[in-house]
Amino acid sequence: MKSTILGFLEDHHLSWAAFQPSDLVFRDVFLQDCAANHCGKYGKTWTCPPGIGDVNVHRSLLSAFPEAILFLQVFPLEDPYDVDGMDVGRKTIMNHAYTLSDRLRKEPGEAMFLAAGSCELCHPCSYPEKPCRFPEKAMISMEALGVDVYDIAKKTGLKYYHGPNTVTYFVMVFFREGSPCRR
Ligand code: SF4
Repeated sequence: MKSTILGFLEDHHLSWAAFQPSDLVFRDVFLQDCAANHCGKYGKTWTCPPGIGDVNVHRSLLSAFPEAILFLQVFPLEDPYDVDGMDVGRKTIMNHAYTLSDRLRKEPGEAMFLAAGSCELCHPCSYPEKPCRFPEKAMISMEALGVDVYDIAKKTGLKYYHGPNTVTYFVMVFFREGSPCRR
């Protein structure tokens, strides 16, 4: 599983770093930002609060994984307000995440991803009337769990900011080798 992840990241020229899941810092104050609905996704998908249920259950699951990798991709923007450029960047790194997730699902072991932003696989999301259409593909966002991405990037030596008129997106994959269990 690890070799598949590293091979994929190398093939796609993605910067990455390994970290211990237990080193991840979760901040409840970030959850308040989520509830304030600055992004407009609160209560709109199964991968954002309150649809994800108890954040502490997810945090415990992640911390119990033996290994994790953080990867990133940097995208140029025309200016700091280039929303379309940001959208293209986020979709690009999430397409990488979905492709890698599909590959890992065929291997023994278990993997769980944290996404850059809310799930946008369906338009509209089935939340809350019907169950998630693709529970094996949908990824919870880092923001939804209050993950301090800046902290873990700093601990691993990855750059968080790449200069003016750029945007940097991160994705996390937590994994264990060999177990037949699946998320
Ligand atoms: S996969 Fe579809 S139904 Fe499930 S959370 Fe994402 S948008 Fe909603």
